[in-house]
Amino acid sequence: MNPGPVMVDERVRAALTGPDLCHREPEFSALMTRVRERVVEVCGGTRDEHAAVVLTGSGTSAVEAALSSVVPDDGGVLVVENGHYGERFSELADLYGLRSARVDFGWSQPVDLERVAEALSADPGLTHVAMVHHETSTGMLNDVAAVARVARAAGCATIVDAVSSVGAERLHLADDGLDWVAGSASKCLESVPGLGFVCGRRDGFAALDGVRRRTQYLDLRRHFAAQVEAEAPAFTPAIPAFYAFDVALELALEEGVAARGERYRRLADRLREGVRRLGLTLLLDPAERAASLTAVRLPDGLSLAELHDGLKDAGFVIYAAQGPLSGDFFRLSTMGVMTERHIDGFLDALARVTGRSAAPA
Ligand SMILES: *Cc1c(COP(=O)(O)O)cnc(C)c1O
Repeated sequence: MNPGPVMVDERVRAALTGPDLCHREPEFSALMTRVRERVVEVCGGTRDEHAAVVLTGSGTSAVEAALSSVVPDDGGVLVVENGHYGERFSELADLYGLRSARVDFGWSQPVDLERVAEALSADPGLTHVAMVHHETSTGMLNDVAAVARVARAAGCATIVDAVSSVGAERLHLADDGLDWVAGSASKCLESVPGLGFVCGRRDGFAALDGVRRRTQYLDLRRHFAAQVEAEAPAFTPAIPAFYAFDVALELALEEGVAARGERYRRLADRLREGVRRLGLTLLLDPAERAASLTAVRLPDGLSLAELHDGLKDAGFVIYAAQGPLSGDFFRLSTMGVMTERHIDGFLDALARVTGRSAAPA
């Protein structure tokens, strides 16, 4: 029940055993191009205007590629923070020596658009706004479309960490006017770990010629030239992970982002209700929660290790909370090929391990 990597469909797992292949042959070009086009579709882009590059690396590689490649030396980035992954953007900006400012709302606090607008008008040198869509450290879903409107009004481009939202939460490059979206294959897109991607406007990628290169492996301009312009990868890709991602994307598009989000939300509602009936409390207001994650307060007198180990013996893996929440909360994900049967089995195991019984509905 960890938020990625997730349990995958058997068709995705079977695809991993595809043939050995040279990545400089037309067979891989065709696979990579199909994967890139499916990524654009799942992000709500259009084939003419948008493109995606797929990186061999986890979600972090995609976020790092986006931030390190798009902010020019004479620009600056405003980081919108309300949890661990927002803080990571600021760490990355510091690592790459980017000029940055931050609006920090505090963990599990909602984003206040007025404060974002004020921060942007206070510093006209800012050119980009970086934000997290689903802040997986708390389970909060941030309104990226609203932040993007504020950014655009200030003439800034947007960089969105959508690693734990793309595939299940509404996210639309074209309609929401998002400039850069970073994602992962192994969360709501339900593939195996090993691939990340960045999706953006074609003219945005081309304009990266004007930005100083700061990294070799994560240089978006290089990957665009290789993958999109030359239809060949810049470096050796994780070919089995591409086989699996291709199938996972086909399944995601077949199901549809809205339907997948609904499926996760139904499971999360069942899980939240069951947890609540055991007398445990949840973080966040219901309207703030993403479909795929639930942060639960640890019951009194039970350590995370005891809870984790007891549930693992029963076949369920729970996930620790991070940072300031780590002593008091744990996290449960509803991503992946999970069913009501898994949720009900988990709730039974949780009752046993905590020694609680469910209150009537
Ligand atoms: C999981 C996650 C990441 C990091 O992904 P890795 O695959 O662990 O590198 C980044 N941002 C968010 C919001 C995440 O949930």
